[in-house]
Amino acid sequence: MPLWTCSQCGAQFPDAPAPPRHCVVCEDERQYVNWKGQHFLSRDELAERHQVIWREDDGLTGLGMEPSFAIGQRALLIPEPDGCVMWDCIPLATEAAISHVRALGGLKAIAISHPHYYGAVADWSAAFGNVPAYLHGDDAAFVTRPHPSIMPWSGDRLAISDDVVLLRTGGHFPGATILHWRKGVDGKGALFTGDIAMVAMDRRHVSFMYSYPNYIPLGPAAVRRIAETVAPLAFDRIYGAWWQKNIASDAKGAFDRSVTRYLAAIA
Ligand SMILES: [Zn+2]
Ligand SMILES: [Zn+2]
Repeated sequence: MPLWTCSQCGAQFPDAPAPPRHCVVCEDERQYVNWKGQHFLSRDELAERHQVIWREDDGLTGLGMEPSFAIGQRALLIPEPDGCVMWDCIPLATEAAISHVRALGGLKAIAISHPHYYGAVADWSAAFGNVPAYLHGDDAAFVTRPHPSIMPWSGDRLAISDDVVLLRTGGHFPGATILHWRKGVDGKGALFTGDIAMVAMDRRHVSFMYSYPNYIPLGPAAVRRIAETVAPLAFDRIYGAWWQKNIASDAKGAFDRSVTRYLAAIA
């Protein structure tokens, strides 16, 4: 029986003879159902039409899909001595991409900012011996393909290592999570924000939305909570959720200026 993937958002569903009738991610008010109706691809169909590609993105290896698929995010590999942490995920894992990641030291864990990027997390974990996939438990209702490797963590902080820490900020989703890599950028630190803090097109600011496609901004209390979580962290770079959507340097100042600007704009 095939596994099914939502062609609008990239969420993967369990194997079944027929595709699901609904996608809980698309039907949520933060996303939208395809104007032509809900549509799913089997994993084989997806692999026939799309490749997983990898390339360098501001000093890290990223993984994405070509042609672009669904939301179009790319995942990033954070190298640690005992294997890479995959940050965010994509809707497909191919043998070629898995081999490449293996050559880079393999995966020791996967961490994902929020349900829009869960993608094929179970496939990626299984390819590396069921490494833990840390998805915040407050968003468990959006896990479309339950899997034993998914670790629904709770609270506001989870240290994967001394240098790689997950911080739940809330905002876009109740369990929305960012990642801080203390050793990143030659020890200056790097912050991985997914679209919890969205890198703007000028790549000198971030912004905040409850729903990007449906234009629902995030309120001041939620933005202040994100800012309070980020305040103690040292970092020079912010990695956003798409290729080259990063703030390459002075990202700490850029983040603080962005919070001030955003709160003034919605006041
Ligand atoms: Zn969907
Ligand atoms: Zn999102």
